[in-house]
Amino acid sequence: MVVTQREAHRILPFARPVIGAGEKQAVLDVLEGGWITTGPRVALFEEQFAARVGARHAVAVNSATAALHLALEAIGVKPGDEVIVPTWTFAASAEVVVHCGGRPVLVDVDARTLNATPGSVISAITPRTRAVMAVHLGGLPVELETLTAELQARGIPLVEDAAHAFPSRIGGGPTRYAGTFGVAGAYSFYATKTITTGEGGMLVTDDDGIAERARTMALHGLSAGAWSRYERSGSWRYQIVAPGFKYNLTDIAAAMGSVQLERADEFLAARVEIATSYTARLAASSVGDLIELPAGNGDASHAWHLYIIRLDLPRLAIGRDQVIDELRELGVGTSVHFIPLHLHPYYQEAFGYRNSDLPVATREFERVISLPIWPGMSDADLDHVVTSIERVLEPARR
Ligand SMILES: *Cc1c(COP(=O)(O)O)cnc(C)c1O
Repeated sequence: MVVTQREAHRILPFARPVIGAGEKQAVLDVLEGGWITTGPRVALFEEQFAARVGARHAVAVNSATAALHLALEAIGVKPGDEVIVPTWTFAASAEVVVHCGGRPVLVDVDARTLNATPGSVISAITPRTRAVMAVHLGGLPVELETLTAELQARGIPLVEDAAHAFPSRIGGGPTRYAGTFGVAGAYSFYATKTITTGEGGMLVTDDDGIAERARTMALHGLSAGAWSRYERSGSWRYQIVAPGFKYNLTDIAAAMGSVQLERADEFLAARVEIATSYTARLAASSVGDLIELPAGNGDASHAWHLYIIRLDLPRLAIGRDQVIDELRELGVGTSVHFIPLHLHPYYQEAFGYRNSDLPVATREFERVISLPIWPGMSDADLDHVVTSIERVLEPARR
């Protein structure tokens, strides 16, 4: 493979935030307003977000990780409890179980969707199961209609890691947003996610008790937030009612979030167009037979946070890692989502997992690649990705 100088210098990133004049102006307004941390902009962003997804409460925090931790804490996950988590996810989904003193019980995923199946979750339930966490991988919703019914019958709360999933919807008839099926859902506004505040997250719930507990614990376990003490009507007095955390979102971030939220449909349309275009071009490409394309779901709308292809390894003379290296040499940035949790040293040492335990995830991990996908990618960018994949795979064909 011959790489020109020009190609080697230009790297198309696998993700890139889209920040416009509106976001910049909103942030400037906050900076000039005299109140930059949690205050009126956060309250407004929460109100807008709750209205958008149809949740009773939205609690803005500084990450989805924080939102997941608060959800499990509010549910009451304690030492000795088990929480079922798919192995195919980011570190955050399971570490929060450990922060509560619980044990993450990792389950395998479906070979087609890479999401945990209702069956794998149900069969992992024991008398110690305190909650189940669903992860909508890449923005493809988990089959929650079946799972929520099964869990409700057993009285086990469902928490959704919807970090990838805004604004995916679920349901054939009246659709609902992924993230609003469980007792609580967590969305991420990290830089690469579908809308961003740099860092940020949102906990949504219809449960008044969970919302109240999460609000308290997000700010040191104080009885009232700083903004309410600062307001004209506020008092300086507060009470510490629990040893809380420091998880609050800033008004600077929230101002950006409100603008990104307004643009969510524009971003989604762009992601859907890129995904559709990838699917058509890759299927028609000279190496289409060497690639498995990502699953979509019949009645689910996919947020397309990630576009994950899989290589037909037995028919290639090179492995996934070399494909990634060679794509990089051609100027295409890619990534891998994710290294399944049970393959990491911590989960092996602390909980005794082995590589062979969850065979579908172990096998599929070896052949996944996340291609660049972000609103603002041009047609030429897409062509560049597809022709680069052809240039790397064609000579490696067995
Ligand atoms: C990004 C991500 C998170 C954490 O989001 P933060 O906002 O960065 O804390 C959680 N779960 C999954 C699956 C993620 O990809």
